[in-house]
Amino acid sequence: RAPDETFDYLFKIILIGDSNVGKTCVVQHFKSGIYTDTQQNTIGVDFMVRSLEVDGKKVKMQVWDTAGQERFRTITQSYYRSANAAIIAYDLTRRSTFESVPHWIHEIEKYGAANLVIMLIGNKADLWDKRHVLFEDACTLAEKYGLLAVLETSAKESKNIDEVFMLMARELIARN
Ligand code: GDP
Ligand code: MG
Repeated sequence: RAPDETFDYLFKIILIGDSNVGKTCVVQHFKSGIYTDTQQNTIGVDFMVRSLEVDGKKVKMQVWDTAGQERFRTITQSYYRSANAAIIAYDLTRRSTFESVPHWIHEIEKYGAANLVIMLIGNKADLWDKRHVLFEDACTLAEKYGLLAVLETSAKESKNIDEVFMLMARELIARN
């Protein structure tokens, strides 16, 4: 048997948020540990898979990227189907992307399964000198909507990306 094909848990996680916040970079970083500047939109990319070892359990994380559909602020309903969790990303240098977060939460509530685990990430933390969203404001919003957590990430500087997925994996194990 191929060791890669065995796992204790398989979770489907969808990544949403406004265009250009860095979703594709985050998922690519998670997959390979390598940051590549993306110029083109994600076309034809469905999902990436990576296995994590969490408390002695093998967890397969299937992470879905939006393929650029989010530019229209709506994503096909099928994208939400059978997701165990959602990560909503904003760009902490662009306030408008943070103000869109409630829109994305409502989309999840409309199309996703009941009680999906939702985590919020403020990406581009390496651009701290251009920050337009306070971490405390993100925490307040997370609390208001009952989100799992907020983490500030940088796909560019490798900050907190693995932590996002580890935290999510732990929570999903606890709930399943
Ligand atoms: P998406 O539309 O949400 O998938 O965003 P992309 O992943 O395509 O990234 C949009 C732009 O932001 C690209 O030019 C990336 O190189 C840049 N970017 C993504 N993540 C980061 C980050 O952590 N820091 C900085 N400085 N730029 C980033
Ligand atoms: Mg993208």
